[in-house]
Amino acid sequence: MIRMRKFRRNNLTRELFTEVSITKNQLVMPIFIVEKINWSKEISSMPNIYQYSPDLAVKHVEELTDLGISNFILFGIPNHKDQSGSEAYNNKGVIPNAIKLIKETFDDKLTLFADVCLCEYTNHGHCGIPNETGQIVNDKSLNYLAKAALVYAEAGADWVAPSNMMDGRVITIKRVLDDANFTDVGILSYSAKFASNYYGPFRDAAESPPQFGDRKSYQIDYRTKRQALLEVESDIQQGADAVMVKPALPYLDIISKVRELTDLPLFAYNVSGEYSMVKFGAKAGLFDERAMVIENLIAIRRAGADVILTYHTSDIVKNGWLYQE
Ligand SMILES: [Zn+2]
Repeated sequence: MIRMRKFRRNNLTRELFTEVSITKNQLVMPIFIVEKINWSKEISSMPNIYQYSPDLAVKHVEELTDLGISNFILFGIPNHKDQSGSEAYNNKGVIPNAIKLIKETFDDKLTLFADVCLCEYTNHGHCGIPNETGQIVNDKSLNYLAKAALVYAEAGADWVAPSNMMDGRVITIKRVLDDANFTDVGILSYSAKFASNYYGPFRDAAESPPQFGDRKSYQIDYRTKRQALLEVESDIQQGADAVMVKPALPYLDIISKVRELTDLPLFAYNVSGEYSMVKFGAKAGLFDERAMVIENLIAIRRAGADVILTYHTSDIVKNGWLYQE
């Protein structure tokens, strides 16, 4: 018999045998940017998360960089939406402007990721371009996505992060970036993105619910695991520099499998529904928020993720949660 309790006998011993930890360097804060000036608004379904105009986003970023956060991913909410999501690849659009402003202010003191999708920019709310019958046309959508990625690279994004789940998005974007000599701009692919019910609050935040149908023809069905692994393999072959699993907590088995599959950096997106469940649960007095957040994030790291995109980032550093007993 092995006496396991000797590993747990007091706090120092438990600390000694800790295998998994989280540091601020491994967290990425998502930010929603609205095409306005001097404006911010709390998202009612995501307590303590705000939409910001680019100028106030800079202030928010400054607050977090002062507390040691150096990774941010931007999502844009344009004033104008149309059939082909033209504001996604307008070089004077909301995201290129925000990237320029943030990079001018902070330069290489932070790493900036730009989400690449069309759903926030299209009047139908889909991640690709539909035909007359409402089918999302894969190859037609790729050029628009690549244009958007190029515009974000030109504005100064360090990484582009295609989240749209169109087949061939990574190789299409990579060719366009390479041709324009953006060989240092990384491609973080949302490789294993499931058609999940956990995105509800995000759709409020990004004002992007689909106006017809759903996203099941491009996002992965959650009753399959092997399709997720095929997606990851395909993205790696296409030249992805890092891959992502989304959502995180209900998909720890996928994170663990992808970890076995590749030595590339593995990201996990602790999505809006995961965030809001913790927030509203803590507000209702069901559990201690800090303890729950740390346990959740450790579980995601333990499954094998290197980096976590999480809305909790702000609360974690503002409240010093990583350093409490
Ligand atoms: Zn999308």
